[in-house]
Amino acid sequence: MADQNKTKVVTIGTIQIGGPKFTVIAGPCSVESETQLRETGVSVKASGASILRGGIWKMRTSLKSFQGLGEESFQFIRKVKSEMGMPLISEVTDARQIEEVSDIVDAYQVGARNMHNYALLKELGRQPKPVMLKRNFSAFIDEWLKAAEYITNEGNEQVILCERGIRTFETATRNTLDLNAVVYAKKHSQLPVIVDPSHAVGISELVAPLCYASAAAGADGLIVEVHPSPATALSDGQQALTFESFDKMMRQLEKVLNAFDRGLNRA
Ligand code: PEP
Ligand code: MN
Repeated sequence: MADQNKTKVVTIGTIQIGGPKFTVIAGPCSVESETQLRETGVSVKASGASILRGGIWKMRTSLKSFQGLGEESFQFIRKVKSEMGMPLISEVTDARQIEEVSDIVDAYQVGARNMHNYALLKELGRQPKPVMLKRNFSAFIDEWLKAAEYITNEGNEQVILCERGIRTFETATRNTLDLNAVVYAKKHSQLPVIVDPSHAVGISELVAPLCYASAAAGADGLIVEVHPSPATALSDGQQALTFESFDKMMRQLEKVLNAFDRGLNRA
């Protein structure tokens, strides 16, 4: 089973991931406006999330889909972050973006589509901030663990693994959450392992049970998409939790964690 003792702790801001406490990262798929980010941050923090997420650049399947606000969001993100006192994780889709957002983000996200982008991974290994490495939807567990070595080998050992669902024959859900990968990675790697149930299942009503299952399986935390108005979200609205449903999930999650003698990391 999961061996919590040998996990190396990764620190994002002041939040320790991989220690005895469970960490919840939450926020919108994409940063859409100052108001959207602030409202979401205030709400998820009150519900017990300790790290904010929000995409600045998006890797969308279609070129016609919203690609993220990019540079125009930098100034208000800085403002909202300093008000919130909450660390932020955001995806970089290109090595040139690492420097651009180095004073905005507290941890870099490598998206599923970039798990095999070894040039990007090496660059992230040459800077000091933590990196969350998502598993590609078609990657073997072994390929995912080996991809992490492209970062650690350059000197940055602050790496978190993130299981976000894989492609299977099933089409009823967006992907299939592979909890096997979570328990396997906890056993065979010293890196903290977190779960992204939102991209794994792709349907908001099904997110909460997967959060509980991930906690029970021994994950170190979760990254969950939350939006003030999922119906009008510019990306991934169908899988976003409302403030109310996120709060309800967090109350139940604490009960699951208590059953395993674990508590929640608080911002
Ligand atoms: C995301 O976190 O919004 C995202 C695009 O995730 P993934 O890379 O797992 O598809
Ligand atoms: Mn998303």
